[in-house]
Amino acid sequence: MAILVTGGAGYIGSHTCIELLQAGYEVVVLDNLCNSSEKSLDRVRQITGKEVTFYKGDILDREILKKLFSEHTITCCIHFAGLKAVGESVQMPLEYYYNNIAGTLVLTDEMRKHNCKNIIFSSSATVYGNPAQIPITEECPKGECTNPYGWTKSMLEQILTDIQKADPEWNVILLRYFNPIGAHKSGLIGENPNGVPNNLMPYITQVAVGKLKELGIFGDDYDTPDGTGVRDYIHVVDLAVGHVKALKKIDEKAGLCIYNLGTGQGYSVLDIVKNFEKANGVKIPYAIKPRRAGDIATCYSNADKAERELGWKAENGILQMCEDSWRWQKNNPNGYEE
Ligand code: NAD
Ligand code: UDP
Repeated sequence: MAILVTGGAGYIGSHTCIELLQAGYEVVVLDNLCNSSEKSLDRVRQITGKEVTFYKGDILDREILKKLFSEHTITCCIHFAGLKAVGESVQMPLEYYYNNIAGTLVLTDEMRKHNCKNIIFSSSATVYGNPAQIPITEECPKGECTNPYGWTKSMLEQILTDIQKADPEWNVILLRYFNPIGAHKSGLIGENPNGVPNNLMPYITQVAVGKLKELGIFGDDYDTPDGTGVRDYIHVVDLAVGHVKALKKIDEKAGLCIYNLGTGQGYSVLDIVKNFEKANGVKIPYAIKPRRAGDIATCYSNADKAERELGWKAENGILQMCEDSWRWQKNNPNGYEE
């Protein structure tokens, strides 16, 4: 009996593999390595002292899925695999819809054929669009996404909901992540973006390590306490633990469940800069730039439902997140490359 982790070599997937292995689960990873390195799985083995079975392949490839399902008894799939760069999705909508949506259709069809009807899906707070209320509860209506990436999450939530409705043997857990940052405390695995980072924390750590000159802050005229955008940053290890808790919910025959995974606390861009400097004693030069298209002012969760129903709560505070992000970057200035 094993858990299939698609996209398990990636940032959140590799951290989740650790928590699964440490909780005693057998783990099978399927990843095409389009945005990750197999070395992350070597590090997972190093940290846990346990084995992870790895299939290098695509969720769109029925043959590899057939092989994997015939070689293992998969009880649940934690589905991380997908393309996730917002800006790129605007340039390449077809690739994003094909990879993320067609990929999930092939995956779930093969799951069904092999009588595995349990899935935990990586969704995102982006499905709330410009949220109707703050803090955002799961009852908050979904909104208009501003890019194809966001739409793939919103559409896949609907597709998985419809699959569960048509066949109640399915258990579908949609996890809406807020802003994952941080890294495993060993400093051995972490976020490893290709090229210039789009997200705030990897940009800051690359400034700190001297690869980038200064941080550009996208707008200081939002309706927020200091004018910069406010988000709900969550430690990636807390997020990973949330998946282990969700697996327990699957065992209870949950049907369809939706949970926010956030801390319930909002921090501005300037708060993050200050906390990073305080945690690590490194200066982050910055310049105020124009707003980034598609950004909203404020986004943070009400995460009470996950606490109530999953017994899950984020444990790590912002200084810990900043410290762990920096340890990873400092020890691995070029990510998994030598
Ligand atoms: P990541 O890019 O590090 O991990 C995704 C993994 O999926 C990569 O290892 C990539 O190689 C793999 N992959 C992509 N397409 C594939 C395919 N067709 N077949 C097999 N493997 C494929 O990203 P991450 O930050 O770890 O995100 C994991 C999931 O969480 C994604 O679905 C992402 O959209 C979602 N998510 C991420 C964030 C975030 O801020 N990091 C926020 C909300 C939701
Ligand atoms: N941000 C920024 N400079 C950067 C990257 C991000 O000022 O180089 C801001 C962005 O405008 C938002 C916050 O940091 O207010 C978080 O952005 P990120 O891309 O990390 O996550 P998002 O919430 O957009 O998914």
